[in-house]
Amino acid sequence: MPGFITKIRSRIEDENHWLTRRKLIVFGTTLIFAGILLGLFESGSHPDPERRPEIIDLSLPDRQAPLGAETAGGQDDEAVAAEEADWESVKVTSGQTLDAIFRKQGYQIPLLHKILALNGDTRGLTKIRPGEVFDFRRGQNGQLLQMRYALDEGRYLLVSNGKDGPSAEIRLREITAEVTEAEGVIESSLFLAGKQAGLSDAMIMKLANIFGWDIDFVLDIREGDRFMLVYEKLYREGEFLRDGNILAATFVNQGDRFQAVQFEEGDVAGYFAPDGRNMRKAFLRAPLNFSYISSSFNPRRMHPVLKRIRPHKGIDYHAPRGTPVYAAGNGTVIRSQYSKTNGHHVFIKHANSIETKYLHFSKRTVKKGQKVKQGQTIGYVGSTGLATGPHLHYEFVVNGVHRNPRTVPLPKTEPLKGSLLASFQARAAPMLTQLSRMESASLYASRE
Ligand SMILES: [Zn+2]
Repeated sequence: MPGFITKIRSRIEDENHWLTRRKLIVFGTTLIFAGILLGLFESGSHPDPERRPEIIDLSLPDRQAPLGAETAGGQDDEAVAAEEADWESVKVTSGQTLDAIFRKQGYQIPLLHKILALNGDTRGLTKIRPGEVFDFRRGQNGQLLQMRYALDEGRYLLVSNGKDGPSAEIRLREITAEVTEAEGVIESSLFLAGKQAGLSDAMIMKLANIFGWDIDFVLDIREGDRFMLVYEKLYREGEFLRDGNILAATFVNQGDRFQAVQFEEGDVAGYFAPDGRNMRKAFLRAPLNFSYISSSFNPRRMHPVLKRIRPHKGIDYHAPRGTPVYAAGNGTVIRSQYSKTNGHHVFIKHANSIETKYLHFSKRTVKKGQKVKQGQTIGYVGSTGLATGPHLHYEFVVNGVHRNPRTVPLPKTEPLKGSLLASFQARAAPMLTQLSRMESASLYASRE
């Protein structure tokens, strides 16, 4: 028996689904046994919602709105309440400094130096990036009257150049959140269902990331899966700015219901199941960015039966070349190299004698001995080694034995307890009621 496992392990070191026919016959009986021994693979999942960069719109107030109308205190309102048409916008180009912009606009460089010397906020203007926008207002003699620059989506810097020289202040912009809801049923793809529900692709990714430890959004999504979410829409000075956070969501995947509610108190922050368990787990189900896949790969093509009959020790994720591959959990890289069969491949050692293996990368981004965090990009999907097309071959190994990451017992994160749990449940109750109402309403709708 131990010899048998050793034999399997040695085979497993290299990917074995590209074996020749002859070898398959010899190896076939081993594989049948291995299939029973190791458990059959169904799938694997997902990136860290907090690590995902958010795209923030830094555009300045609507040109029609008189600038300064929102500010209290009424300093120099005459100058501030100038016609919006007087403002001229300049977009920073690659490598361009504010100095270069001043020269191009015909403003004086000594004035710029005075502005930069005003305070820490104006000193920050030496670090500007391509694509950012400066607005200038010019006087009758061509001199600079005012300049504004968005510091973030809720604040901008206003520089005024008066008789006594330049002065700067930070102006706040009111951002309000409105709670809204959305729901959808998957017919062909999650992204399409999301679009029909009025959600942006970024929101779909947020939704998927909440459930990415439980659901494999590449292989497990089926027609009829449904979702409901309660989320925030953000408005800036009364105008829609962007979607905000998801407050609570339900995802029904192949009949299994997953629910999560956002909660933050003290050091605790994240999404939790109704009973207080953290949605975050030690391993992602599908260790790659599935947003690259859904647009061009139909999940229904990945029939579970096809996966099962393949003589195979891992999960294949067919994905476009260049799709980012994530470390499924925290760990240390124990191998990062190239071989004829595996191509560019990375092995990671985790706690509890667990190893994960990733093959056929187009490019590796980690080195042997390096510590990696869950969700960190370790390479990109490719077809190096013995692979006919771009795909990620993923293996999950416990104590040297290949296991199904879905069914293998894994260390659990601490659930909420005591007063935190009580506080969470008080917050979750109305959200869960709202989600239930949405779910029953949508079930009625689908029966009509
Ligand atoms: Zn494979």
